[in-house]
Amino acid sequence: MSSPRRPNLELLEYTITLAVENVRGGKGGPFAALVATDGKVIAEGVNLVTSTNDPTAHAEVVAIRRACEALGTFQLTGAELYTSCEPCPMCLGAIFWARPAVVFYAATCIEAAAAGFDDALIYRQIALPGDQRIIPMIHVPTPRSGHSFETWRHQRQRVDY
Ligand SMILES: [Zn+2]
Repeated sequence: MSSPRRPNLELLEYTITLAVENVRGGKGGPFAALVATDGKVIAEGVNLVTSTNDPTAHAEVVAIRRACEALGTFQLTGAELYTSCEPCPMCLGAIFWARPAVVFYAATCIEAAAAGFDDALIYRQIALPGDQRIIPMIHVPTPRSGHSFETWRHQRQRVDY
């Protein structure tokens, strides 16, 4: 098994090619990603936001979904994620949930912002208290708010993740 810290530059270049082809094909934004293990590509993903009317269809999310489906798992333990651009906050969250070993990215979020894809706003919003965000997150406590967790704790057949 190759070191998880050393990028396979061919795979990284390949994600850039996929991102360029995605733009030329009119499928979505200029982003692509892939999941690989031991240098072998498990799944690819490109940005499909505008062609599928799915604001969550970022390249990394698409690649993670396809890789998990291909591997029949909800964790990408030991896998490498290659992406044409530094992940946005949503994809960062998805990456932490999927738990690959490492992420290699080509372009920076600064380059993405220069092209009109500015996710710095979201990072700034995360730092604010929920009720002060542009889209307010309002806590509404109810007597049943913990019911699903109570049910989860007592569920014997649950699959932890
Ligand atoms: Zn993203």
